[in-house]
Amino acid sequence: MSDCLFCGIADGKIKANLVYQDDAVLAFKDIAPKAPVHILIIPRKHIVSALDIESSDSELLGRIFQVAGRLAREQGIAASGFRMVVNSGADAGQSVFHLHYHLLGGRRLAWPPG
Ligand code: 5GP
Ligand code: ZN
Repeated sequence: MSDCLFCGIADGKIKANLVYQDDAVLAFKDIAPKAPVHILIIPRKHIVSALDIESSDSELLGRIFQVAGRLAREQGIAASGFRMVVNSGADAGQSVFHLHYHLLGGRRLAWPPG
């Protein structure tokens, strides 16, 4: 989608600090990190939110979680622990409407979240 920030990053039109990419998935550092490790993992495909996932996206979402595990190991937070977060809609504070998974770690994460 032409006016989507994360499509722009996926297309290389907008700069980001990439930590992983393949033909279907991209991961980059969050511009305003909320933890020592804060990476956003996105599908290249423009999916608006968790409400818009289709059955044909199953393999893609599986790949995203595999990438998350790989990055958790690479970033040194596999043993200490980490959290995957998907904000959906206003109450969750979703601000970018291209599906993304926050990978957070490197500090103690409060539960329940605020
Ligand atoms: P949401 O609030 O939708 O769950 O998450 C959007 C995330 O995107 C936020 O954590 C925000 O800091 C991050 N973000 C917003 N604009 C940019 C950007 O231009 N580059 C990067 N790397 N992250 C961004
Ligand atoms: Zn998009």
